[in-house]
Amino acid sequence: MGGCAAPQYAVRPSPVPEESAQARQIEQAISALQARELESRQRVGTRPVQRGERLFGFDLQATLERLSRVTERPNLPYHIFLLRNQDPNAVALADGRTYVTTGILNYLASRGSREDELATVLSHELAHTVAQHLVKRYQQLQQQQLLLTVVGIGAAVAARQGGAQAQQMGQAAQDIAGLLSDVAASGYSQEQELEADQLGVRYMIRAGYDPRAALELLQDFARFDTPSLFLRTHPPTARRLEDLARYLAESGPEAAGRGTPPLDEQRRRLLEAQQLYPPGSQSWKNIQRQLEELGRGRFKK
Ligand SMILES: [Zn+2]
Repeated sequence: MGGCAAPQYAVRPSPVPEESAQARQIEQAISALQARELESRQRVGTRPVQRGERLFGFDLQATLERLSRVTERPNLPYHIFLLRNQDPNAVALADGRTYVTTGILNYLASRGSREDELATVLSHELAHTVAQHLVKRYQQLQQQQLLLTVVGIGAAVAARQGGAQAQQMGQAAQDIAGLLSDVAASGYSQEQELEADQLGVRYMIRAGYDPRAALELLQDFARFDTPSLFLRTHPPTARRLEDLARYLAESGPEAAGRGTPPLDEQRRRLLEAQQLYPPGSQSWKNIQRQLEELGRGRFKK
């Protein structure tokens, strides 16, 4: 994705999970690799967190379950694991396991976070799992590789080299293992990160959390925008903030499937979102236009 592409804002559709046996197999295989990689990096190792157990004041498993129930995949085995690591980070595996570091819990506790901010972190991670982002990446890579393999086999057949053909087929099997580890290591695309932000906020609203916590947390991330904070592949915080603020301003509770809020509530929301931008900036003007339309009673959605 080119750095100069103009961000095209869109309300992303709800994910339609693929529950085929093949998708499940890919999820299991990628998760096994991810878990091995995560756990090998930790000297002290990881451990599951029980429901009812309080860490830094949070019942992590309870929050994860409250959120997972309102997703499009409520039935995966969602479990929290604690990683002893000071980097503030959270990682969802493809199979429903979610790892959080002591670093991110420490960070949340140190700013006196309410459960809504923890829900921001967990709902974003859940969204990656629910939307099957790693499965999609795998299938994409596989498609590309398949094309290459087919071209290779075609060339071998054309040259009447039966041995070479068999070799190609063997190579294809080996490539699957390579593909899996590529996907496990490469993580998500920036578009997938933005989708996870948006889906995560939808889940928060559905589960009864305050979605403004997502904006507050992202604003705080902007203070120290290092690539290591909250996953290395994330787009710049300013971009995430802008995307999310606009999404909330434009869709509001509709994201959760509720009705349109009263006009003064819409107005309050827009004013709040507008405060995030410098007066006169493009986003500021977009929101200003919506405020004016609201004033004229022409506001739809
Ligand atoms: Zn992410």
